[in-house]
Amino acid sequence: MIYTFHIVTIGHLSRNRYWGEDESVAYRKALCTCTLLSGGGEHILVDPSLPAQRMDEALLWAAGLHRADITRVYTTHYHLDHHVDPLFPNAQWFMPRTEIDYLQENWDAYIRTFPGDDRANLAQAHPVEETLADGIRVVPLPGHTQGLCGLAFDAPEGRVLLTGDAVMTREFYQAGKPYLFGWNDEMGIKTIQAIKGQYDVIIPGHGEAFAARAWERTTEY
Ligand SMILES: [Zn+2]
Repeated sequence: MIYTFHIVTIGHLSRNRYWGEDESVAYRKALCTCTLLSGGGEHILVDPSLPAQRMDEALLWAAGLHRADITRVYTTHYHLDHHVDPLFPNAQWFMPRTEIDYLQENWDAYIRTFPGDDRANLAQAHPVEETLADGIRVVPLPGHTQGLCGLAFDAPEGRVLLTGDAVMTREFYQAGKPYLFGWNDEMGIKTIQAIKGQYDVIIPGHGEAFAARAWERTTEY
């Protein structure tokens, strides 16, 4: 199965080391990269980043679709900016089982970092392991959170890995460094090392999709 992908929203960080910004200041509200995978009659929306009305607009602009056309929603990890209005009229919402299990045990720690979320939201997410749909592999990428899982699939561009916040942007990929609100940075570094050399395209958590090999050079920012 070959999936085509559209970037529905190009994410950005609240602060970005590679833009010369101070890491103790939030310059803007974070927006995650939201991606649509289409293939085999499915329209799968990953990391819904906008409130419902704005998402409808973004889907229309990116792919000529509406929220009702989405067949599955997937959230890479349970940070608030990756599950803004995740409930769609004709879609089930999926999350990695590892992430759901961790949150059930550690809700208090999560809510300290992301105040304002509601535990009832978590109960709406269906756990998923190994495969999200035909040809879409669920790939554990621990570090940013314990249970974060990306998605690997084939596209016309080649092998694609959608990483969520395991890779924030292409610069962080090149440097091999995790960033902001990480659960275990040492593990996050190992995760990026393990990804390198495996994929043609990376769709990161808070930036543009990029050609992986071009950003595997050793140049340090
Ligand atoms: Zn995150």
